[in-house]
Amino acid sequence: MVGFDIISLSLCLSYIVSIKMRLKAARLSRAASRAETGPTMVRSWDDLNYDILMGIITRVPWRCRLYVACLVSKSWLAAVLDSLSPGGVINLKVIDPHKLKNDFDFPRFQRRYLCFLKHMLDIKPVDSCSALCIGETVLKPHKYVYIAKRTPSLQRLVISEALGYRYSCFLQAMCYWRKLKKVKCPVDLFVFCSVCFKKVESLQLFGVVDDAAAKAIRDRCPRLRRLYLISCALSITALSTILDGHKRLEVLDTRHSFCVRDCKKTASIGISQSVEWNEEEIRCKAAGIKLHLRCTKQRCPKCSATWKHCYPKMKGRLANYRYWRYI
Ligand SMILES: [Zn+2]
Repeated sequence: MVGFDIISLSLCLSYIVSIKMRLKAARLSRAASRAETGPTMVRSWDDLNYDILMGIITRVPWRCRLYVACLVSKSWLAAVLDSLSPGGVINLKVIDPHKLKNDFDFPRFQRRYLCFLKHMLDIKPVDSCSALCIGETVLKPHKYVYIAKRTPSLQRLVISEALGYRYSCFLQAMCYWRKLKKVKCPVDLFVFCSVCFKKVESLQLFGVVDDAAAKAIRDRCPRLRRLYLISCALSITALSTILDGHKRLEVLDTRHSFCVRDCKKTASIGISQSVEWNEEEIRCKAAGIKLHLRCTKQRCPKCSATWKHCYPKMKGRLANYRYWRYI
């Protein structure tokens, strides 16, 4: 009975609220009809409150922003440019092919987006962008350099696992980013760029961590507190070497990672059978870590499989060059 009373009471209240809203709308329409007889003031699109304008722009699909909204007025163009990096984040995942399915005009849209991004980078202060997210679309190396020169204060760099082992296009740009604190990138990119990881506190790598990569992780990141090696192939001594250099690690995530005998072969074919971890040694060295995430082999379908992938999220096979087109 109590439940029934509450339901009927709420129905009454909603009915009263709806009547009040109708009365208010009627009053407003009468006021508007009176105002029509007096002098009217024409206001420009530029007079629209900027926060409201941004609220509108961010709800508009990207294609309409870049082809329609930007043509309305100067303030609308400025809002479109600001929407390219809300909160100082440049998100290049917007131009990933799967975002716009069955769109034959997609390359043109990508070029237009990059044209606007270039314009935005030219007019904004150099320290306005603090994060860059890179999806599965690969730009030509000089475009990353252009972005890097105008974002020297970048603190967060996130590269999608979909790119697999591809790293050469980022090499030139990396030297401009010396303030990175949080990075997700392929293992090889980390190995080949020695100067830009000194301030890194959080590091996520994907690919094959051989002995050289393990030593690089041990020696190059004195401030490292959180290390994520998810679905990586590691050499037999890699984890032990890393832990030797990081006694103050707070988080270590090795879920779905596996140990391999031959790192080079694993990197070239992308899959490998695993060998047993040096369990006791790792348990002793990781004893001081606050959060150590790892799989129980028998309970994880990925870890109990005979053949394991070191690039599980890479688009296409290793030999498939369909995704290698640079824009
Ligand atoms: Zn697992």
